[in-house]
Amino acid sequence: MVEIMSNKKSEKFNFYEAALVKRTELFNDCNNIVVGGGDIHANILFVGEAPGRNEDLQGIPFCGAAGKNLDKLLERVGLRRENIYIANILKCRPPKNRDPLPDEIRAHTPWLLKQIRDMKPKVVCSLGNYATKFFLAKGDIDKMGKQIGITQVHGKAQDIEMKFKEEEGEGVSVMKFKLIPLFHPAAIIYNRNKLTPLWEEDMEIVKQEII
Ligand code: URA
Repeated sequence: MVEIMSNKKSEKFNFYEAALVKRTELFNDCNNIVVGGGDIHANILFVGEAPGRNEDLQGIPFCGAAGKNLDKLLERVGLRRENIYIANILKCRPPKNRDPLPDEIRAHTPWLLKQIRDMKPKVVCSLGNYATKFFLAKGDIDKMGKQIGITQVHGKAQDIEMKFKEEEGEGVSVMKFKLIPLFHPAAIIYNRNKLTPLWEEDMEIVKQEII
């Protein structure tokens, strides 16, 4: 029997955006809040969808099958986890890995935006549809459904300006970065021959943006 180390009671998570996450049902059901991982000073941020089973048990993003594929894909373009930071739209695992619900995205993404505000990445690589649509909609969850999908938008760099609103009435930070949507590494597992070359081409664009 593996004993699970949970960070759910960590005193570090005592700020407003963490409280929004803790009010969701997902928090009650998860083992760990998966905050993010890698180099917080990197100039590339990768954003996935939500923790899966392994991520939930270990509290580490992309440590399961999708993460192993991500490591291989990064290696193909000469990068490692230490060169990037990685986080997710949701901080807690949805039951049976179901798709994130709009209210969950609404409650969990203020913490992600706070991370972006602090990290100031030059490039944000959104992995798959949820993260891509969140950024294309500039964080307006009600507009996510109208955004075009990853198949059409992957590799197309765009300038994004987003606002991070502090706790009620406490000011607004404007964040600017280049968004480069990428296929999700889990999707690439199922369509390796077709999507791996596209990932490599898209990552060349990422690399040009950070030099
Ligand atoms: N898939 C994601 O989108 N994020 C993870 O952390 C793991 C798998």
